[in-house]
Formats: sequence, C-alpha cells, structure tokens
Amino acid sequence: MTNPITDHLQIDMSQATLNSVTNLDFLTKDRLRELQWQKFEIILRHTYENSPWYHEQMVQRKLVPSDIKSFDDMYKLPFITKQILRDTYPFGLFALPMDKIVRMHASSGTTGKPIVVAHTREDLAVWAQSVVRSLRSYGVGPGDILQNAYGYGLFTGGLGLHDGGQALGVTVVPISGGNTERQVMLMRDFGATVVSCTPSYFLHIIDKAQTMGVDLRTLPIRVGAFGAEPWSDEMRKRIEADAGIKAYDIYGLTEICGPGVGAECVHQNGTHLFEDHFYPEIINPETLEPLPDGQMGELVFTTLDRFAMPMIRYRTRDLTCLISEPCPCGRTIRRMQRIAARSDDMVIIRGVNVFPSQIEAALLQVEGTAPHYQIILTREFGGLDEIEVKLEVQPEDFSDKVREIEAFQNRVRHEIHRVTGIHAKVSLVQPGSIPRSEGKAKRVIDKRII
Ligand code: ADP
Ligand code: ZN
Repeated sequence: MTNPITDHLQIDMSQATLNSVTNLDFLTKDRLRELQWQKFEIILRHTYENSPWYHEQMVQRKLVPSDIKSFDDMYKLPFITKQILRDTYPFGLFALPMDKIVRMHASSGTTGKPIVVAHTREDLAVWAQSVVRSLRSYGVGPGDILQNAYGYGLFTGGLGLHDGGQALGVTVVPISGGNTERQVMLMRDFGATVVSCTPSYFLHIIDKAQTMGVDLRTLPIRVGAFGAEPWSDEMRKRIEADAGIKAYDIYGLTEICGPGVGAECVHQNGTHLFEDHFYPEIINPETLEPLPDGQMGELVFTTLDRFAMPMIRYRTRDLTCLISEPCPCGRTIRRMQRIAARSDDMVIIRGVNVFPSQIEAALLQVEGTAPHYQIILTREFGGLDEIEVKLEVQPEDFSDKVREIEAFQNRVRHEIHRVTGIHAKVSLVQPGSIPRSEGKAKRVIDKRII
C-alpha cells in the first residue's frame, strides 16, 4: 500500500535512517506545525471518506474536512472515547479493508469488552520509529541488549518495544513477562544493559534478585524503560538506588498505538511527546474546553499518520499538562508532566479526591517502607468510607519495625494525611505478602457497596 503522507513527504518509514527519524525531535516550531498540518489534512480526509462512523459524526455536525482550516478549528470535531471503541467492537472504526491490515491489538477490557485496534504495515513502522526515538532519548543504541519483559500478545507493550528495539538495532531478548527467577538469571548471564517492563514488575524483579543473592547494581544493566502504569518520582528513586540504573518513563496507550507515544530524555523532567505523529491537546474534562500549555487537564490525541484506524481527538482520561519551555536536551517536541493519574483511577473518600499515586508518593517518603502497597476501600452499611493502606516494610527492617510498630504506622499515616488530606488506617504486612504483578499492578481494591 502506498501511504499518501509518507509519499508526499518523501519519507520511507521502513527505510528511514536513524538520523532522519531522530531529527524529527529537533524541528523548528514552524516546521513542526507545518508538518503536523500537512499530515492532518490528509488524515482527516482519509477518515471522513473511509470511516463510516466518523463520516456520520461529521454529517450530523454539517462538517466537511475543508471546514477545518487550522488546528484552531479542532474544537469543531467530535471527541472519541473508550466507550465508543467498545460500542463499535470489534471492527467498527477500521478505515481500511482487512487486506490492508497486518496486525490487531486489544486492550485488557477488564471492565467489559476489550477495545480493538488495527495497523497497516506503515502504521506499525510509524509506531516502531516512535519507540526508536524513545530508546535513543535514553541513550540506548546498537550494542545494547534489551531484555523486554513487557507481556507479548494482544497487549501492546511486548511487541511495541520488540519492533522498536529491532528497528534501532539493539539486541532484543523477547522474554516477555513472568518467570521472574529466569528474568534475573538471563539478565545476569546475557549481560542485559536495558530492561523494559512495568515499574511494578521491575520491583518484583529487584526482590527476586535479592532472594537469589544477585546484586543488580553489579550487573551491566543501566537503563529501564518503564511505563504502562503511573509511577511516582519516589518510586523512581527507589528503583534507581536498588538496581543501580537510570529509570526512564515510556508512555503510550493501545488506542493511539502503544508504548512510544512519548518518552523521557536523560534530563528526566517530563515526557517528550512525538507530536509529529500524535497531536496532543489538553482539555478541561468537565467543560471540554481546550486548555493552554501549563494547565492541568485531560490529554487528547489525534493520530496524524495512522491509516488503518485513525483516532481524531481521542480522550485518554490521563491527566497532565503540556510543557512548552525548552528542554536542555534540545528537543523541540513538547513535554508533558509524567502521568500521575487517570481520571477513572481517582477515588473519592469522604468527599476528598485522591489518586493512588499520591498515596504512593506519601508512603515512600517514610524511611523503611517498601514500595509494595495496596489501598482498600470499605464502607459500612449506611456508614462512612474507610480507607486502609496495606504496606510492606523492608525485609531487613521488619523485625525492628514490629517493635516500634505504632510509631512507624503513625509516621506513614501522618505523611498520607499531609499529602492527601485524608486519614487512612495503615496496616503493616509481612514482606512479600502483597500480590506481585507481572504487568500492571492493581493498587486499589474497592469493597464499597455503593
Ligand atoms: P488499558 O487501558 O487496558 O490499561 P493500555 O495498555 O492501552 O490498556 O493502557 C494505557 C494507559 O496506561 C494510559 O492511558 C495510561 O493511563 C497508562 N499509562 C501508560 N503509560 C504510562 C506511563 N508511562 N505513566 C503513567 N501511566 C501510563
Ligand atoms: Zn529533553
């Protein structure tokens, strides 16, 4: 299939040299805008003509593609949500016939039907190039050995890092998630220099290495590409200290492609977004008004060069703000604040809005806590919400801490109250007793009867 965008721009994504791809991180603002707009005009027309759902939406609003004259007119276009992806399950948003589609992915769908996304060969090349740019921004390149411990399968993490790693020319070890003892063994025996997985799974690898008597700090491993779930800076500090690596963020979502929508650079001061592929907006999630850079709101993406299943103004539910100040690395693509929360993770306890990541940040402030915790919400019949934070202490501290258990619990309670304003019950549990995850961690157990 020929791709009008890459043809027009004379970029062959599958052959693009590494430098021509990475140069996209350093375009001038005007050139970037121009490139985005050229792509958007093509993709909007393609979507209007080939996606019956979008066509119908635009007809209802009496819109044709030429009514959108610049990005300032974006607000006229409807949003798309996860619910719409579910309602059109499985193939209702595909904009090309099956003979152009070379792969499908799906996201977990723990709360109902999964959502399905489709890719052409070119779409996959764009995604792989975004992962190339992510890995490069961490200083990773040929010669590195990437232990890819993201799950392979319908989940995008495994194949996303796999294709990107190979496109960059690093040596990919496609170990997938699980079998943690073997993860540690291969990390040591193969001399992996880069690891990719969820931050919570890496904590599990750290634990396992300790019980196996392997000190990760003495191994060649130096970079972690962590994402797929929120993780706090306190968590980052723990991981970096315990494993002797630099822990970088990689962000993405199935609906847009997968990991590689954005990535941190070595300055670790926000996640650069590959804006030339994924056009970001921040909106007020209540009024749906666009918000300027610097203001917190919901992140919305438009895929600028995905043909199998274009997403125009997809509401991610992720809360962040865009940072337009220049980054010391010289990349001109904007950064976003690392995603600390998604609006559907927010819990309301006695009227106070709290995100699990705030609790994580608070409890990791206290010395002696381990980064393993679970938040349990209960409500007595007709009563008030109760929140309990179950927390492991460091194995070496466990017996000492039991002696001074009350003082320690109080320190954690106090810190949670200081950060979130809520009074939580804190229970200390045996090291290793909180279930470990091989993918995304389940932090909140809501037992409330609503
Ligand atoms: P699901 O929606 O089933 O969890 P995805 O794997 O597509 O499936 O999840 C994408 C979501 O994961 C994002 O919208 C975001 O909430 C979260 N996420 C992904 N990467 C990160 C990251 N680096 N930091 C915080 N959250 C992330
Ligand atoms: Zn930077």
